[in-house]
Parts: sequence; C-alpha cells; structure tokens
Amino acid sequence: MLDFCIIGSGVAGSTIAHLLSKKYSVHILDKARGPGGRASNKRFKKDLNFDHGVQYISPKDKKFLKFSKKLIQAKILKEWTGSHIDFNFEKKKNSLKLIGHKANNDLVKYQLKGIKKTFLSKVTKINFKGKFWEVLFENKLKIQSKGLIITCPFPQLKAIAKKYLNSKILRLGVKMEPNITVMIAFKNNKTLPISSIKFNDKILSWAANENSKKRFISNTNLWTLQASLAWSKKNINKYKNNKKIEDELVMRFLKLTGIKKNKLIYKRIHGWKYSYNYRKTKFLSFWDKKNRLGLCGDWFNGPKVENAWLSAYNLKKQIR
Ligand SMILES: Cc1cc2nc3c(=O)[nH]c(=O)nc-3n(C[C@H](O)[C@H](O)[C@H](O)COP(=O)(O)OP(=O)(O)OC[C@H]3O[C@@H](n4cnc5c(N)ncnc54)[C@H](O)[C@@H]3O)c2cc1C
Repeated sequence: MLDFCIIGSGVAGSTIAHLLSKKYSVHILDKARGPGGRASNKRFKKDLNFDHGVQYISPKDKKFLKFSKKLIQAKILKEWTGSHIDFNFEKKKNSLKLIGHKANNDLVKYQLKGIKKTFLSKVTKINFKGKFWEVLFENKLKIQSKGLIITCPFPQLKAIAKKYLNSKILRLGVKMEPNITVMIAFKNNKTLPISSIKFNDKILSWAANENSKKRFISNTNLWTLQASLAWSKKNINKYKNNKKIEDELVMRFLKLTGIKKNKLIYKRIHGWKYSYNYRKTKFLSFWDKKNRLGLCGDWFNGPKVENAWLSAYNLKKQIR
C-alpha cells in the first residue's frame, strides 16, 4: 500500500513530497491543471506567459537561503534584476528577488521530479479506516494510503477534513484574505524600463513587468496587476463574467502609468479566494501520529513561499 497520499501540489505539497520520497512511497494530487498552487504560472498562447500568483522569492531563513542558493546553481532560480519602484517607500525594497528561470513554478517542478502526480483531482471526502486512509475524489478516483498529508489553505482543509482535525487546529480559526489579479498585454510599444511597481493606491497594489524577467523575447509587453486588499475583498465574489470590475483595475493601471488604452490587446482576470493569512499561528505544521495525518502550508506561518517551504520542512521533522 502507498505510504503517503499528499493533497496539494503547491510549495508546501511539493516540498513534503520531495522530502518524504527519500524514504517512503508518495503520490501527490491536486485539483488544478498543473503544479504550483499559488505559485503557478499561466501560459495562454506562446508569448502570453504570466506569473499570476507568486512574483518573487526573498529568502531570509538560513535553511531556505541555502536551498535557494542550490537552486540558483542548478539554474532553477535567478535574480530578478532591474528597477523595482516602491511608492510606499518601504525599507525592504532592495531585498534579493529570486524568480524561476522559466516560470515561478520552477521550484515546485524541480521538487516534484520523479514523483507520482495526478492533476484535475479534487478531494471531496477522506475516511480513516483504522489502519489506512481512503481518499475520495470528485473524478471518482479512490486512493488508499497509510498516511495522509493535506496542504491546502485552511478553509479548504476544513471543508474536507473537519471531522479529523484536532481541536487545537480548529480553534486557530485562520482567516484567509482574497486577491484579484489581472494579466494584460500591450502591442509592441517600448516597455517601461521598470521591473515592478508597488503603488500607494486604493485599487491597485502592485504591477509586475513580465518582460523584465528576461525569459523570452517578445514584441508584446506583459504586465501582471494585483489589486489592493480592500478592492479584492469588495469584488472577489462578483468579478466572474463582470467586465466592469476587470476594466476598473486595468484603467487604474493605465492612469497611474500613462500607458495608452489603444495599445491594450489582451486581458484576463483571476481571483484568488484564499490568498493570504496575515496572522501567523503558534504552529509551523501539525502531525497527528496516531492517525498519521499531517498538515502543512503557509497558512500556519505567513503568506510567503519561504514559509510554505519551512512548514513542510518542519512537518517532515515531526514525521521522523
Ligand atoms: C496573488 C499572490 C501573490 C503572491 N506573491 C508572493 C510573492 O511575491 N512572494 C512570496 O513569497 N509569496 C507570495 N504569495 C504567497 C505564496 O503564493 C504562498 O505563500 C505559497 O505559494 C503557498 O503555498 P502552499 O503550498 O502553502 O499553498 P498553495 O499554493 O495554495 O497550495 C495548495 C494546493 O492545494 C490544492 N487544493 C486545494 N483544495 C484541494 C482539494 N479539495 N483537492 C485537491 N487539491 C486541492 C490547490 O489547488 C493548491 O494547488 C502570493 C500569493 C498570491 C495569491
């Protein structure tokens, strides 16, 4: 029988899968089309390529910094150079900014090499059968494993596993805030000589110039826009099929940068319902030894790639 079924192929899921696979058999499953979770990349056509979640990694922790350096040497990560403008004038603006060579899910793909993975598989129910777990998926797939690891954001975890969650975890009452992202493309005008802009604005929070990541040569200028928390909260439940909402964010960007509207050739909106948990919990991860149920993810310790990685790393230590 399989040792571990792992739910979620984001940073936490791929990290725990990579670490456990050294000793155990693992199978990772995700409801999405591909790996990465909130660190995934959207490619619509050949040259329309956006990091619509994670923009960059900024290692602070010693262990994660060492791991990041290894990935720089292996040409998985590289520095995102250029000019990063911050209209909030935050002190940390000069921190090291690492991105994937091809896309920001490169770190996840690297960790999942050689690991059994299945996508488009949404967990609907889990049952502990005393000696093993039975995991049921929307597509009728059924998996049995000795241990189960769940890495989805807290509200999604609660929806599938509430019955098995320790009261210490349930009492945490973690709340996750939304974020709305719009990906846009302009026809071949000269791009702004800027890599990213942090705005001090009620609607638009941040814009990333995808061309400045130097992954492809294109006549199209690509930008990923992230809305402010307040605006995202106001619109997260009504942005689908609502052109007005998409346009409001795009128009704001055009107004703030001076780029002409007639140059716009493409736009696509994406809503992240469970984007950030700003309040850290007192745990880094959770391991229920009796039932062999493990939990990890950035919702334990803060909305950063580094924290998702550290949470998984901590879970692995507990399993040992
Ligand atoms: C817009 C945005 C920008 C960000 N920018 C940055 C940044 O610049 N730098 C940074 O360090 N961090 C950033 N973050 C935070 C970063 O994305 C997260 O900290 C990190 O990716 C979380 O990884 P995770 O593995 O814990 O969770 P996730 O990436 O959310 O992975 C959970 C996975 O579980 C899957 N899943 C959920 N429910 C089910 C189910 N029922 N069945 C099967 N699968 C399921 C999901 O599809 C997902 O793939 C950003 C986040 C967002 C949303």
